[in-house]
Amino acid sequence: MPVDSTSELLKHYEVYETIGSGGFAKVKLGRHILTGEKVAIKIMEKKDLGDDLPRVKTEIEAMKNLSHQHVCRLYHVIETSSKIYMVLEYCPGGELFDYIIAKDRLSEEETRVFFRQIISALAYVHSKGYAHRDLKPENLLIDENHNLKLIDFGLCAKPKGGLGLELLTCCGSPAYAAPELIQGKAYIGSEADVWSMGVLLYALLCGFLPFDDDNYMVLYRKITRGKYSNPHWLSPASILLLNQMMQVDPKRRLTVKQLLDHPWVMKGYSTPVEWHSKHPVRSFTSETSEKRRNEMCNSPLIEQGRPRQQKPERRERTRENKENLAVTGTDGDVFALPAPRTPMSSRKTKSNRNVATTPNNNIISTKMCNYVLNCISHMSRSRSLDLAGCQVDSGQKRKGGKVFGSLERGLDKVITMLTPSKKRGPQDGPRKIKAQYNVTLTSQTDADQVLNQILSILPEKNVDFVQKGYTLKCHTQSDFGKVTMQFKLEVCILQKPEVVGIRRQRLKGDAWVYKHLVEDILSTSSV
Ligand code: ADP
Repeated sequence: MPVDSTSELLKHYEVYETIGSGGFAKVKLGRHILTGEKVAIKIMEKKDLGDDLPRVKTEIEAMKNLSHQHVCRLYHVIETSSKIYMVLEYCPGGELFDYIIAKDRLSEEETRVFFRQIISALAYVHSKGYAHRDLKPENLLIDENHNLKLIDFGLCAKPKGGLGLELLTCCGSPAYAAPELIQGKAYIGSEADVWSMGVLLYALLCGFLPFDDDNYMVLYRKITRGKYSNPHWLSPASILLLNQMMQVDPKRRLTVKQLLDHPWVMKGYSTPVEWHSKHPVRSFTSETSEKRRNEMCNSPLIEQGRPRQQKPERRERTRENKENLAVTGTDGDVFALPAPRTPMSSRKTKSNRNVATTPNNNIISTKMCNYVLNCISHMSRSRSLDLAGCQVDSGQKRKGGKVFGSLERGLDKVITMLTPSKKRGPQDGPRKIKAQYNVTLTSQTDADQVLNQILSILPEKNVDFVQKGYTLKCHTQSDFGKVTMQFKLEVCILQKPEVVGIRRQRLKGDAWVYKHLVEDILSTSSV
């Protein structure tokens, strides 16, 4: 019988606060005890996974096989009788999504820097025979050097016909799904990824989605028609690239190979996107925990023992073949992983227009239609509940010329409207921090005033919260008591200039619904 214990994890890592949560997992900040290196620990309760366990195995299997400068690294997997822990490279910069909304939208130049990294990651992932299939700015994290790392490979395997429930639960936002995918046609994974990359590029350049609607059937129709607006700030070159990527007919879409040296991508650069891995080849073994324990001394974390950016060349060479993924059970059982395989169906495409970087560019042919319709109706239900709970009417707002007000401007507005409150402030003072992109600067200097104003707004918006000092851990619930959204707001003091700032962090829930909700809170409070 497996031992139900976290001791195996705690033997190697200190575990700190929750830094994110997804459909399946809670992600906590951790620190490797021997080296002091920070890690992200993705924690999954087996009993909650149920039929989704294969998705986790898919993710682990994919991440074992992927080692690239723009793909989040998997260092270690630990299984106990009740939990699975994935120890990952820590990306302190948060999600690309939050970065976009903090800035409203990105300039073409900044977008290009990020987009080249996204192309690099996808060209590599495709070259390994995988399609990601859940590309969105929430699944791109920013590391300490402001570089992107792709996460969430749980949907990268071929969906199996009949596992509707599993796919329903796993379903990402349909807003990024290619038309052929939502129509239930056989599709090529890499082509569907290029569509999603087009949606992502649009979100970077515009700060909102090309296809969006609270009603998922309307959204579905918009995607299949492939019509979207081109805001006036888009350059002709950007409009052209978006159009080439968001072609309804996948055969007319650009390929990842074509993206590598596309004129838009090359602007200001002298070389095409470098997509080959700069990391050494990893070899993985499944081992008994005894063997693994002996080999922990060779683990990348132990060997690093210092920030990874130092002496990368030399260290990478010495690390070669030592980055074995240790997959263990606490009682010595090996957490059995399926043998490496391509996640795609083996049925070949009729078209010869394969992506050169995608040797295993196979068709995915499943009863996707039922899956997507189930998925859409499921998401439609949960989203309408979210909206009912939050009283968000983002559809209405989008009818105006500007799709979303800037979160930053909204917050500034709220703060200008602040009135002194009689409520007693917390005992400890607010944290002093440096300006970060997820911190909104205000022109105020009284943190208690800002805090009290936010405290008075949240109940009006049906947002429950727990206050700990100047941090508010907020959540919304569906009618059935399910937590639909979780985020943190922290009132803090910025150092230069010394003004009050509000640090935001989304922990759970659909990113765009979160954006609508926060903006709704802000715009209502500033009336
Ligand atoms: P799920 O598979 O359940 O959807 P994710 O892998 O998407 O979970 O992780 C949920 C969230 O946790 C992410 O959106 C991100 O905010 C955070 N997170 C995940 N991995 C890391 C990491 N390596 N570093 C920092 N934060 C992370």
